[in-house]
Amino acid sequence: MIATRRMNDVAIDAVGRSARVGAGAIWSEVVEKAAKAGLAPLNGSNPSVGVSGYTLGGGLSPTLGRSHGYAADHVRSLDVVTADGELRHVNAESEPDLFWALRGGKGNFAVVTALEFDLFPVSRLYGGGIYFPGERTADVLRVWADWHPSTPETMVTSIAVMRMPSMPEVPEPVRGKFLVSVRIAYNGTTADGERMVEPLRAVAPAVLDTVRDMPYTEVASIHSEPTEPVPYYERGIMLREFPAQAQDKLIELVGPDAETTLVIAELRALGGAWDRESAVPNAVATRGLPYSLLGVSAGPLSQEQQLKRSVAELLDGMKPWQGDRRFVNNLAPDEAADAAAIYGPERYERLASIKKTYDPANMFRLNHNVIPAA
Ligand SMILES: Cc1cc2nc3c(=O)[nH]c(=O)nc-3n(C[C@H](O)[C@H](O)[C@H](O)COP(=O)(O)OP(=O)(O)OC[C@H]3O[C@@H](n4cnc5c(N)ncnc54)[C@H](O)[C@@H]3O)c2cc1C
Repeated sequence: MIATRRMNDVAIDAVGRSARVGAGAIWSEVVEKAAKAGLAPLNGSNPSVGVSGYTLGGGLSPTLGRSHGYAADHVRSLDVVTADGELRHVNAESEPDLFWALRGGKGNFAVVTALEFDLFPVSRLYGGGIYFPGERTADVLRVWADWHPSTPETMVTSIAVMRMPSMPEVPEPVRGKFLVSVRIAYNGTTADGERMVEPLRAVAPAVLDTVRDMPYTEVASIHSEPTEPVPYYERGIMLREFPAQAQDKLIELVGPDAETTLVIAELRALGGAWDRESAVPNAVATRGLPYSLLGVSAGPLSQEQQLKRSVAELLDGMKPWQGDRRFVNNLAPDEAADAAAIYGPERYERLASIKKTYDPANMFRLNHNVIPAA
């Protein structure tokens, strides 16, 4: 176990539009400091998530990702310690293979001590969540599924069916409620955003509507996730399509008539820059897969089997539409996932060959393991 919590320096280069952060930095620290220079990172939904694990696993930003791609696509350099104990400064010129593998290969190749990545001139968004009664899941889901493909890349959206427990860690407006929520992050004018969101607001009376013009520092309120530790289990798959039959199946699995103990079933709509190879290519495996589906259950360890079962019921039920690769950040740590299936055969082969060069004895193996090539 390597604890990096105290390596949380964040230095912003306002002119060069970049951040250099220590391995232990969390997103809230970067968002706050970048905002002072009128800039924003490709952060995730939760402010307490670590920059390192998130970025090495790809980093799917629910605010700016559809127009800018994965966080891993915008890494400029990484300081790492490889399995041989060497401290290396890795970028596209110095160690191109290792640079490719680290961005998407997650913890398989080295211990990262610092990251340098791009920031973007974004200081506000039109965003938030529209929460409808869970009984209206079918109506909301169908309208959302028809609506989002016609929106521009500056509109990022997801839908979540939520059965929120009455735990104190769960924020008040959603605590203890059965809701379906549409999340919006639009990097454009409020007037355009309002116009675009109209068809969603027309579906049903909202229980709560937090979509508004907001400073970028408030982005965590879009998903409004707990920031204190909560015992939970989650894992996800990618969908290669979401046709009407898949919508019916999802409604059956998590809608009002479902017998599920799942806390959240979240479907993020991807596409746009997420599909385009980055300027400096990397190992991110999920380009071209248009949806990410995540199941989250919560409860004490004594309920472990039940927590895992409820996630499995969702993902197994949606298997007919599952894509052929997986998003590393949405894998459960204990999931017996085969890394070749996560990355696809060609990408895996290259990863295995780079692993042989930099970690031939497979020191970094407590992960979704890339095994050194023979
Ligand atoms: C509430 C919540 C919301 C989330 N939202 C998003 C989201 O919007 N988009 C998204 O892409 N992901 C999201 N995630 C998933 C998140 O990106 C992963 O859980 C990621 O692993 C978190 O990294 P960490 O550094 O915080 O965690 P850690 O537990 O510290 O690290 C997880 C793993 O990452 C690797 N790692 C971490 N630090 C280093 C390092 N310094 N060097 C080498 N390897 C390292 C290791 O393999 C480690 O085991 C979310 C997770 C949670 C809990």
